Amino acid sequence: MTTCYINGTYQDISKTNVSITDRGFQFSDGVYEVIAVYENKFVDMDLHLKRLMTSLNKLKIKINLKLNQIENISKKIKRLNNFNNGIIYIQITRGNQHPRDHKYPNGLKPNIIIYSIPKDFKKINSNAKRGVSTSLYPDIRWLRSDIKSISLLGNSMAANYAKEKKNHEAILYDERSYITEGNSSSIWIIKNNKCITHPLNYRILKGCTRHKLISIVKNKKLKFEEKKFSIKALLKADEVFMTSATNFVMPIVKVDKHKISNGKPGQITLSLRDEFINQI
Ligand code: PLP
Repeated sequence: MTTCYINGTYQDISKTNVSITDRGFQFSDGVYEVIAVYENKFVDMDLHLKRLMTSLNKLKIKINLKLNQIENISKKIKRLNNFNNGIIYIQITRGNQHPRDHKYPNGLKPNIIIYSIPKDFKKINSNAKRGVSTSLYPDIRWLRSDIKSISLLGNSMAANYAKEKKNHEAILYDERSYITEGNSSSIWIIKNNKCITHPLNYRILKGCTRHKLISIVKNKKLKFEEKKFSIKALLKADEVFMTSATNFVMPIVKVDKHKISNGKPGQITLSLRDEFINQI
């Protein structure tokens, strides 16, 4: 049985219900967070909770829980479901509204759910030794990708395109052929020992792993730049990798038919991955 937190109660996930009048269901009017639990430790919980608050504020969704209460519920969910490796999923929608209307009244009561999914990171660790393949896909998402909204149809279409091609992730490019991010990750290239990733703006999510890795890159005295890079620069990079809560730092060795360098994970990427895992 998986125990889920839903609006102040703890229930068996298979028995939980949210009304069809939920604005998350009707309009994707909600936000979410994914926090990894790796070898019994929560990874970057503070950064994820802070981003949850930022997403809620950007959509003007007000909740009556404090961040430390969400943290305590997440810890309780881990305890009740008794796992050492997995992810905590938090979703908050604006609440129920009937009759349906794009415009919402003030004072709706948000629907808050928190649950866990056990995850074996061994597969991710073995993927990292070989590196993963990716597909390029146009970034067809809405123009507020800085909000971690539950509106994930564009991401899902990209991810399923990559899956059809037997690839791990889709790398998204904008209308000028610049890389934005992955379907569920931040994308980085390394060229001449410089680590480069897309600058923070409305086109990408402020990745928590990205944020953590920037300090690791700087501590290692590697060069770093937040800069847009093109598909051409991606294919010509010395190393390519993605960062996310569930993949940590993952080497990318192939983009469609094109091998990155010699088709093996890059040394800098692997050292960044080791350091990221050391710091958990
Ligand atoms: N970009 C998108 C679109 C994502 O969905 C994610 C994570 O799911 C990321 C970037 C990486 O963010 P984080 O490192 O916080 O997991």
